[in-house]
Amino acid sequence: MAAETGADNQALEEKHDVLKSTQTVIHKALEKLGYPEEVYELLKEPIRMLTVKIPVRMDDGSVKIFTGYRAQHNDAVGPTKGGIRFHPNVTEKEVKALSIWMTLKCGIVNLPYGGGKGGIICDPREMSFRELEALSRGYVRAISQIVGPTKDIPAPDVFTNSQIMAWMMDEYSRLRENDAPGFITGKPLVLGGSHGRESATAKGVTICIREAAKKRGINLEGARVVVQGFGNAGSFLSKFMHDAGAKVIGISDAYGALYDPNGLDIDYLLDRRDSFGTVTKLFDNTISNKELLELDCDILVPAAIENQITEENAHNIRAKIVVEAANGPTTLEATQILTDRGILLVPDVLASAGGVTVSYFEWVQNNQGYYWTEEEIDEKLEKVLVHSFESVYNTSETRRVDMRLAAYMVGVRKSAEASRFRGWI
Ligand code: NAD
Repeated sequence: MAAETGADNQALEEKHDVLKSTQTVIHKALEKLGYPEEVYELLKEPIRMLTVKIPVRMDDGSVKIFTGYRAQHNDAVGPTKGGIRFHPNVTEKEVKALSIWMTLKCGIVNLPYGGGKGGIICDPREMSFRELEALSRGYVRAISQIVGPTKDIPAPDVFTNSQIMAWMMDEYSRLRENDAPGFITGKPLVLGGSHGRESATAKGVTICIREAAKKRGINLEGARVVVQGFGNAGSFLSKFMHDAGAKVIGISDAYGALYDPNGLDIDYLLDRRDSFGTVTKLFDNTISNKELLELDCDILVPAAIENQITEENAHNIRAKIVVEAANGPTTLEATQILTDRGILLVPDVLASAGGVTVSYFEWVQNNQGYYWTEEEIDEKLEKVLVHSFESVYNTSETRRVDMRLAAYMVGVRKSAEASRFRGWI
């Protein structure tokens, strides 16, 4: 079963190679910054990539072997940091690209980390609670040698949550015979989690939307917003937009999309969605994800998966601003088309950096053993994100490059410099 899924994934990744497109932009960014070719040779791939096999006894008595990955892109700045994804479409290349994006995010928001990422090929929607716990613990045992609070600090990502982080933290603590809350972030509050972590990505996206709207003279009050994905990022974001007076006219999940030109009842949808961010199955009058992306709106937020805006539909996007809450939702060809059409694209490595920023706050609180209030977290996050947005926007204006290239230029510099100071290149 896992092997078949792997083969399907291979075909998918060849169509839109996220690693190749990331490398293309990194190369351009380093060239623009005047770094020699060897810096690109170092940064084009993770310095470390571990593939693991995780045997899990399933509820029916059979043993299933899952494949997992952990990528560490660059640890010149400090320990690597990045989420763990549970999804049937996880591939090695995707995990590598995601780890590079984490380096860029940490660089943009100026955290003392390099990028890391993990993934397991599985479908948690079809697994029991017990099977998920066994898989989570098995993964930690398999990668335990290369992770740790001063080595590589995981966090949640698609289809993983605070419960899974709690199991993983417990497994790591047992292996080390030491309580180790700083091993992982995104934990429940009672286990050393941080206030504001759950909604941090969406808060960061909200700040970026507000700043982008100012640049384009769009009033958020009454602005029409479309959000693809109703999971952690998409659902909180819809709520924040709704609370800010915007009209959320479309949302979606993996099974379809909902549209109401007068604005959807977000509180009701939040109430009805399941823990995997599924809500559209409850309705008959749905539209497709493709139709959702092409709706007439002011602000479009892809908050689900990769490669959603491509050269095939970029000409049909009618939003004035596209803010990428998801990682890699827009291909390079589509980025060019949107930029040429005058649509302001706020790239993933900037827009979704709120999650890792509050994860960093969580790790700092675990290390110091003293915890901040939600207000303190919000205030710190606001400062970091506003500053980061300005720095990317100004780079884009002064260097006359699109926002994605500008973000890569801001983001890659720290790891390049740290690698140089350490004498690696
Ligand atoms: P999640 O698992 O909580 O939710 C994912 C949502 O996307 C669900 O509503 C799901 O139904 C939907 N979805 C899945 N497959 C889809 C498909 N083929 N078409 C349309 N919708 C689909 O995940 P999340 O944590 O909200 O993450 C969403 C995106 O945001 C990912 O790209 C993730 O890497 C990125 N991100 C998340 C965080 C975070 O802190 N959660 C941080 C940074 C970036």
